[in-house]
Amino acid sequence: MRPNILLTGTPGVGKTTLGKELASRTGLTYVNVGDLAQEGQLYDGYDEEYECPILDEDRVVDELENKMKEGGVIVDYHGCDFFPERWFHIVFVLQTDNSILYKRLEKRGYNVKKLQNNIQCEIFQILYEEALASYKHEIVHRLPSNVPEELESNLDQIMKWIEEWIKDNN
Ligand code: ADP
Ligand code: MG
Repeated sequence: MRPNILLTGTPGVGKTTLGKELASRTGLTYVNVGDLAQEGQLYDGYDEEYECPILDEDRVVDELENKMKEGGVIVDYHGCDFFPERWFHIVFVLQTDNSILYKRLEKRGYNVKKLQNNIQCEIFQILYEEALASYKHEIVHRLPSNVPEELESNLDQIMKWIEEWIKDNN
């Protein structure tokens, strides 16, 4: 059995960058929940205010259940309170300084409202709070995600943890 890892945090903090690189270095399976929802049209309405479809969380969970039971999955999503707690062996909340995050989101062409909303989300550590409310505190870890050196050290740290986990659980 291999561990299931959740990567969460505000849009733009680097979940996808870290998740894909981690998958390629470890052979674990990378799942981007946003892409999965788009491919399967796992939506339940449309948010007019934020101009984005609303995720059908139950269908996303159903879709992923079998894969998660097998283990060895890296899940990437900017939310975490609707996944079953039992799915994850460790949760990483990526965090980025405001000025850096602002530039990344500006590059994505986010409108002012969406930009401000995401920066506020980061300032108030909304995703960290959501993770603490949804999972045992001892499995929730924050990772800084500002510069390439931090990406490398995060990868090293997570890969060491995976190795230990596999040793302890097989
Ligand atoms: P998310 O999936 O959380 O929305 P992305 O992985 O798409 O974030 O990253 C957003 C942008 O930030 C990308 O341009 C990516 O190259 C950059 N980025 C991610 N992590 C880092 C890092 N540790 N250092 C510098 N740039 C990063
Ligand atoms: Mg992403």
